[in-house]
Amino acid sequence: MALVLKSHKAKKNFGQNFLHDDFWIEKIASAVDAQPGQNIVEIGPGQAALTRLMIRDAGCVTCIEIDKDLAQWLQKKFKPEALALIEADVLKVDFALIKPGEKIRLVGNLPYNISSPLLFRLMELADRVIDQHFMLQKEVVDRMAATPGHKAFGRLSVMLQHRYKIVKLFDVPPDAFSPPPKVISSVVRMIPLESPLPVNEKLFERVTAQAFSMKRKTLKNNFAKYFGPEILEEAGIDPGARAEAVSMPSFVALTNLLESKGI
Ligand code: SAM
Repeated sequence: MALVLKSHKAKKNFGQNFLHDDFWIEKIASAVDAQPGQNIVEIGPGQAALTRLMIRDAGCVTCIEIDKDLAQWLQKKFKPEALALIEADVLKVDFALIKPGEKIRLVGNLPYNISSPLLFRLMELADRVIDQHFMLQKEVVDRMAATPGHKAFGRLSVMLQHRYKIVKLFDVPPDAFSPPPKVISSVVRMIPLESPLPVNEKLFERVTAQAFSMKRKTLKNNFAKYFGPEILEEAGIDPGARAEAVSMPSFVALTNLLESKGI
């Protein structure tokens, strides 16, 4: 571990748990398999654990880091031709300005406190993304990859599976980090689907939010304020089912039916 900023105290509010175990850092880099010349964009480079391997493999990397101390350190540590640094909150970055018109590959050991809003925000970029390799809390990755009927299946699963092929790769133990997080982490690969099922995205967001609003209630009860059980039947969904038993394509069918009826 050549590059460590010894004086840096991890900041909890930025979700700073730094990878310090070369075995896991190399394992993530080999899952990414960056190739020379590819546009790698890393979210939250921190102390450059992954960054230096992305530079080794791709030649250069664009990084988005919110912590100004780390941003300054990174800029001193690497040549500008190897690292383009954007000091910003990734939730506010205008991705259209990063390698405009070019395809990008996203990587990151993400700050766990912003993982859901970030994943939703990145969906807007899916058309220009080749793939995304992220480390997240295991529990979140389990939800992303869950299938209907499983406890972890929820709105996050439906929304993300509509847009990406999601593959959970491996778990990473807390002792691979400094300081160690309280939870197990997992690395996930997300590949945007070439032809996602056509749907009005905004309506789809609202339908899934309502469907999963009360997880223990049946769909007919969750939607009672808006329409009757016959609409669910028409979409091929059992009105007595709970949202966790209904597949992503059925939610798309329901959304399209509601749109066609102007409900
Ligand atoms: N990639 C490093 C590693 O693997 O050791 C650091 C990972 S640490 C879990 C998360 C990193 O994301 C930290 O460097 C933190 O400062 C940064 N970060 C946190 N919130 C951020 C945000 N909203 N925008 C950009 N970076 C953020």
